[in-house]
Amino acid sequence: MTDNERLAELIFPNIHTTIDDLEKRYPKRELAEGAIVDRFAPSPTGFLHSGSLFTAMICHKFAKQTGGVFMLRLEDTDSKREVAGSGEELLTQLANFGIVPTEGYYGTYEKGNYGPYKQSDRSEIYNTVIKELIKRGDAYPCFVSEEELDEIRKKQEANKENPGYYGKYAICSFYTAQEAIDRIEKGDKYIIRFRSKGDHNNKIKVHDLIKGDLELSENDQHIVILKKDGLPTYHFAHLCDDHFMRTTHVTRGEEWLSSLPIHIELFERMGWEPPKYAHLPVIMKLDEGKRRKLSKRHDKEAAVSFFLESGYPKKALLEYLFTLANSNFEEWRLEHMDSDIYDFNFTFEKFNVDGALFDIEKINNISKERLSRLTKKEFTDQALEYASNYNKELYDLINRDRDYFESIVNIEREKENPRKDYTKFEDIVPFISFFYDDYFDNLTKEEFNPKYSKEEINKVLNAHMNNLGLEKTEEEWFNNLKSVMNPLGFAANKKEMREAPDKFKGTIGEASEIIRISLTGRKSSPNLYYVEQILGKEKIVNRFKKVTE
Ligand code: GLU
Repeated sequence: MTDNERLAELIFPNIHTTIDDLEKRYPKRELAEGAIVDRFAPSPTGFLHSGSLFTAMICHKFAKQTGGVFMLRLEDTDSKREVAGSGEELLTQLANFGIVPTEGYYGTYEKGNYGPYKQSDRSEIYNTVIKELIKRGDAYPCFVSEEELDEIRKKQEANKENPGYYGKYAICSFYTAQEAIDRIEKGDKYIIRFRSKGDHNNKIKVHDLIKGDLELSENDQHIVILKKDGLPTYHFAHLCDDHFMRTTHVTRGEEWLSSLPIHIELFERMGWEPPKYAHLPVIMKLDEGKRRKLSKRHDKEAAVSFFLESGYPKKALLEYLFTLANSNFEEWRLEHMDSDIYDFNFTFEKFNVDGALFDIEKINNISKERLSRLTKKEFTDQALEYASNYNKELYDLINRDRDYFESIVNIEREKENPRKDYTKFEDIVPFISFFYDDYFDNLTKEEFNPKYSKEEINKVLNAHMNNLGLEKTEEEWFNNLKSVMNPLGFAANKKEMREAPDKFKGTIGEASEIIRISLTGRKSSPNLYYVEQILGKEKIVNRFKKVTE
C-alpha cells in the first residue's frame, strides 16, 4: 500500500465502493437524439425566489421540448441555511406552475435510477470519489485554522496578490502523506481539499450555450471539497452529481460562471466529460434608473409566494418569464395569442445575454390580457382555486351563489376585445363587492357632482326608476335613457349641449354618473347597462330609494 492509499484508508475506512462500481450503478442513459437531461437543484432555504422559478421553468421546458429528463435534486449541504420542510414546499410551489420533475426528489419519496436525489443522502458517492482522489494524491487533508487563513489573506492583501488557498499559500498541500497521517492520528481536525494543478496566468477556452465562447483564467485554487461537517461543497457535489446522474446540460444562474474554471478542472482531472453549460441571465430590477439584482429583502416580487398570494394567474407569470428568456418569444406570442405558451420552442441562441429586467408592469399587462381571455367558467374555477388557498373572503363570495358571481365577472367577457378589469384574483372582491347588498351598505360612497341639487338627483333617479328598460338591448336601453333624461336637462352628447347651452345643465354622462354612484357607490364601474341587468329591478329600486328618501 502506498502512503496515499494508507491516508485514504485512514480517512475513509468504511468506503468499499469504487468509482467503477458507481459507473456501473449509474449507466449512461439511453436517450433519443437531441434529448436533454437537465436538473433544477434548489437549496431548501424556505424561499422560492422568482429567479429560481425562472431557472426551473427553463430546465423543465428544455427537457420537455426535447423529450428528455427534468430532474430535481435537493442541494441540502448547507445545514446552517436549511429551513425544515422547505424542500416539500418548494415542490408544491413549482407544481403550482405545472413544473413537475420527471425524476428526482419529490419530498416524501424519490423516483428514478440515478438517486439518491438529496445531497445529504449521497455521502457514499462523494466519499468514494474523494477516497480515490486521495489515493491518487489529487486531494489531501488540510489542517489550517480560520486564524491561519486570515493571516494568509492579510499577506496576500499586503502583496496585492490574488486571494485564496493556492500555490505557495496552500500550506497543507506540501505535507507528505505520512505527515498528514501523523496529524490525523494525533487528533488534529481537518477538511479535504482538491490539489489544483492550474495556473491563474493561463487561459482556458470554454463554450457556454448562452454566453458563447469564453476565455477564462485557469483555476489554481485548492478548493475545499469536503467540509468539517462531512458534507461536500457545491463544486464537488456538482462534479459527482452531474456526472453520475448523467446530466447533459447544466442550466444554472450566471452567478456560477466565475467558478466554471474550477468545475472544468475537476471534470478534466477525473477524466470525465463535462456537461454542456448554459448560464442564465440574472434577474435584475430597475431601481431609480440603476440596475440591481432582484433582492429577497427589498422586493416583494422576488418571492414566488407574492404572486401566488396575490392571485396572479400562474400561466401569466410563466408567460412573462418566457419573454425574459427568449428574445423571439413575444413576436411569436403576437401571432399565436390563443396558443399554449408551451407550443413555443426555446433555443439557447435566442437567450437574452444581459441581465433580464424584471418589470412588474409588464407582468400586470400580460396578466390582465390572460384573465380577460378566460371564459367565465375558467375564470371562476381559477379564482376559486386561488381563493381556497389564499382568500377566504373571495371563497365565501363565490360560494354564496356561483351563478351570480359568474354573471358579474362575465360582464363584457367571452367576446372580442373583452374588458380587462382584473390584474389578479386579489382584485376581485374590491371590484365587485358592490353587487352584494351587505357589502354595498357598508361601502363609503363617492360624492355626487355638487353641481346637482338633491332635488335634481332625485328627479334623475325617479325618472330612470319609472322607465328602467331592463328588457331592452344595450343600444335600445341607452337610447331610452337619453330620451328620458333629455327633458330633465341632459343633452345626449357634448355637441348637442354646445349647440343649446341654455337648454341643458349637463350631458347624459353626468346623468349616468348620478345613477352609477347610486347603484355602485363609485364614479367608475363596469358598463352600467350590465350592472343593472345583474342587479335586477328590486335591488336597483332599493338603492335608488336609499338616495331619494
Ligand atoms: N444549489 C444551487 C443554487 O441554488 C444550484 C446551482 C446549480 O444549478 O448548479 O444556486
